[in-house]
Amino acid sequence: MLLPLAAGFYLRYPLLHPALWFTASLAICGYFLFRSVYSVNKNPLDKTGFFISIALISGGLSLTYQWAAYLDIPLAVGTASFFGVQVFVPVWAAIAALGARDIILHRPGAVPLVLFSVGSGAVSHFALRRFKALASGLAEKVSRLDEENSEPGLSTGDLDVLGAAEKEFSQALLLARELLEADSVSVFRVAGDDIAVKSSTSTGIKLRSEGIIRLCLKNRQPVCLSKMDREELFSPGYEHGQPVCSLMAAPLVLGSTVLGVAACDSRRTGAFSLRHLSDFQRFSAFFAGMMGRERVFTEMKRNLKGLEVFKDESSKILKHLSKGDIAREGARAARKIAPMPAAIFLRSKDGYELSAATGFSGDFSDDFLGRGPAGQEKKTKTFFKSLKGTLMANAFAGGQEPIYISDCRDFPVAALPFDGGFQVKSVLLQPLSGEEGVLGVLGMFSDRTNSLSAHQIELIKMFSNQLAVSFCRALLHEKLAVLAETDALTGLFNRGYYEEALSREFKRLVRHPRPLSLLLIDIDHFKKINDTFGHTAGDAVLKKVAAIIKNVMRDTDVAARYGGEEFVAILAETDKAGAQNLAERLRKAVFLNPIDAGGNTVTVSVSIGVASFPRDTSSRDGLVELADKALYSAKSEGRNRVCLAKQAD
Ligand code: GH3
Ligand code: MG
Ligand code: MG
Repeated sequence: MLLPLAAGFYLRYPLLHPALWFTASLAICGYFLFRSVYSVNKNPLDKTGFFISIALISGGLSLTYQWAAYLDIPLAVGTASFFGVQVFVPVWAAIAALGARDIILHRPGAVPLVLFSVGSGAVSHFALRRFKALASGLAEKVSRLDEENSEPGLSTGDLDVLGAAEKEFSQALLLARELLEADSVSVFRVAGDDIAVKSSTSTGIKLRSEGIIRLCLKNRQPVCLSKMDREELFSPGYEHGQPVCSLMAAPLVLGSTVLGVAACDSRRTGAFSLRHLSDFQRFSAFFAGMMGRERVFTEMKRNLKGLEVFKDESSKILKHLSKGDIAREGARAARKIAPMPAAIFLRSKDGYELSAATGFSGDFSDDFLGRGPAGQEKKTKTFFKSLKGTLMANAFAGGQEPIYISDCRDFPVAALPFDGGFQVKSVLLQPLSGEEGVLGVLGMFSDRTNSLSAHQIELIKMFSNQLAVSFCRALLHEKLAVLAETDALTGLFNRGYYEEALSREFKRLVRHPRPLSLLLIDIDHFKKINDTFGHTAGDAVLKKVAAIIKNVMRDTDVAARYGGEEFVAILAETDKAGAQNLAERLRKAVFLNPIDAGGNTVTVSVSIGVASFPRDTSSRDGLVELADKALYSAKSEGRNRVCLAKQAD
């Protein structure tokens, strides 16, 4: 697109056909501008095209107005400064190519103009790059400082203490170097299975995989070598750019723990005698003491942070009343106290339920946190009939004490009943105990051995007490909720629940009209049973009749004790014929099954009144009234029968 324009420029079109050439240039310029702003796949070529078309327009203008040639300078500087190399190099090239025409035509001032615009572009580009590098370095430093300062439990005062300790350490190294007339004194600390430089009087220390310092660490014995140049077999195990001919190394031991090793070297042969070694050992004892104190300080800081997390998380847990919410918050909080995947299992009616799992990557690639938003929850099995063959089973069978296995790699049983996505190398299983024994287990699983400190285990234990209390509260809450809607004698729903359920059904029916029927059931001559066999026998009959009602009804029906020896059943999605059918089956089931009432077998019958929506009435109260009337009819017609409501006029 740009080529014809450039060709036109060379053929002096801006002078010969200005309307055509400038319109085309502006249109192309607009096209590239539109693409570079609105295109979904941003392409630097669009920006390049935009700027080249501006260069062309300014070139075109400059054929008439000399000043327009100067527009190239801000263009070059602007593209160089604010857009990448991909944009400004082609734009420079275009400016230079357009300028070539003027150069060919020997226009005065064209060469310096082109050179100046390209040169100023290059300078601004490099200046901006340097500035950006400086700014990003500064931002990194600031964010690192922020991070250090924002670590919980670490105040500026703590930083001062750590900084001061580090300074003191360096000064001690310098003093040792001076007194021992050494070239360099260094301290290496144990880091995992290896060692790392802690502090040194030399800069740029490089560790080697083998050498005296590692040997010294292993044997826990001081070493003094003074002719290392001749005995090439011995290498110090580190380098600092200068030859080492004499070397002393001493382990840094505190109690029974080896914290690291100190080394002191010289390029002189025979630089150290036994007197030097004993002085150096004294220094080493001092270094070990300082490192021990630093460790304690760091440990304390970590513990403090853990305690703070514990305090915050415990209070969060207490806010929840549902088991799912508690499990979700509990697993998350445990993972904050000890950063590793966590899972909570709860004992359920006939097995074990995984209530929350966080941090796993196998079966649970996303966090599974109890009852989450729909669709996110169950990706895989969360109910386990048995946990046999896993360490979890032991935790459920054990007491209140946590089980911590710092290395479970060789255990014959798996740690988890699901695939966690990594090899579990250490595990903490903390039973959650209630009054009736272990109600759940909080498990922490790590892909490292020895993953938890004694302090972390203690914190998890304390946190689990809170968790267990919260779960107990949630269980109690669930039980109370069930009790509040259940009739104590028969186990059916109570009157209150029935009233609410019927209102709820009618609200639903307004939106989705479907048939619904109501049965009112009354035991015939119940007073006689009480009078003849006593109230206990009467109660037994009530229970048995309730059991038969429950048995005959579907799960979706609501059967409740209406009061005394009367029952009610709401039959959803059931028309009058269906309701009559069911009522008849119920009547027969009661009548044909003599009931054992305190040693006496009694034959009991029931009378049932049936009313249906929308066939008989469309109102809630009307339905109850009609069913009541129908029941009255059943009684007056001789009992042990089902009567249907007559439609209201
Ligand atoms: P009908 O065939 O007309 O229904 O006669 P009925 O004797 O069944 O009816 P009535 O209403 O005269 O008597 C109901 C009796 O049920 C009265 C009351 O003592 C008894 N009753 C109510 N609640 C209970 C209960 O919880 N346990 C026992 N054992 N009896 C109860
Ligand atoms: Mg009655
Ligand atoms: Mg009765």
